[in-house]
Amino acid sequence: MEPIKPHWAQPSHPDRLEIVANEAAFTSKSIALADFPPFAVFSKLTFPPCTTAEVATYATVQTGVSSHLDLNSDLLYINHSCEPSLIFDTSSLNVIVGPRGLKKGDELSFFYPSTEWHMAQPFKCLCGTPSCRGTISGARDMSPAQLEGVWINAHIRELIEQRDSAVAAANGTNGTTNGSSVTNGASDATAEALRDAITQAESVVASTRAALKTYLARGQAPAPKAAIVNGSGVEDPKAGLQRRGASARALAGEMGGDTN
Ligand SMILES: [Zn+2]
Repeated sequence: MEPIKPHWAQPSHPDRLEIVANEAAFTSKSIALADFPPFAVFSKLTFPPCTTAEVATYATVQTGVSSHLDLNSDLLYINHSCEPSLIFDTSSLNVIVGPRGLKKGDELSFFYPSTEWHMAQPFKCLCGTPSCRGTISGARDMSPAQLEGVWINAHIRELIEQRDSAVAAANGTNGTTNGSSVTNGASDATAEALRDAITQAESVVASTRAALKTYLARGQAPAPKAAIVNGSGVEDPKAGLQRRGASARALAGEMGGDTN
């Protein structure tokens, strides 16, 4: 891989991404600076700093059958892994956390063939994971089995289908039944994990909305604790005038722990 020569102000993602250089080996990687739950948005692929690119280079990400973008940020330091920690969803232009979540210090990685059909600079993967695919040169050169178990973009599925139906037409067979297409997501683990995450997120939204509604529906909202106790921890006589009786105090104690 060519060394990266940043032309943008660094760090570009100071709250979440740190670059770690291994100068002896002329390599670099990036690590998470915070914890993130599964499928959290890690970063948006916004324009700018992203720009459209005419051709694929080591610095681009493929976003469609014939479209690419230049990242122009520290996201370029995210290496490939065959068991990646991030997903680049180029349809929604979101970089999201993978199904295992991220812990501070974890290496940031994504599965390059999930965006790239053909890579001008193939490389031997050294990710060392149990499912390592070996040489990575884009989805075009991978078997259906090698593309199983990871999240793949729609344009890659489309290109696989185009290739398979062209092969099927040449062979006089039906392209949809030759079994070589990547799974449609009906029963694979990635689709299951995404469905579970949606169910959990929806239950958080529903219970949070209900709790807010219950809270606001009380006869009168409690005075914030800060209005009752001043900075020295002594009850503020002026704030006391704003108190609304025992029920509000009881609720304040219930919600935040009354230290009086
Ligand atoms: Zn690998």
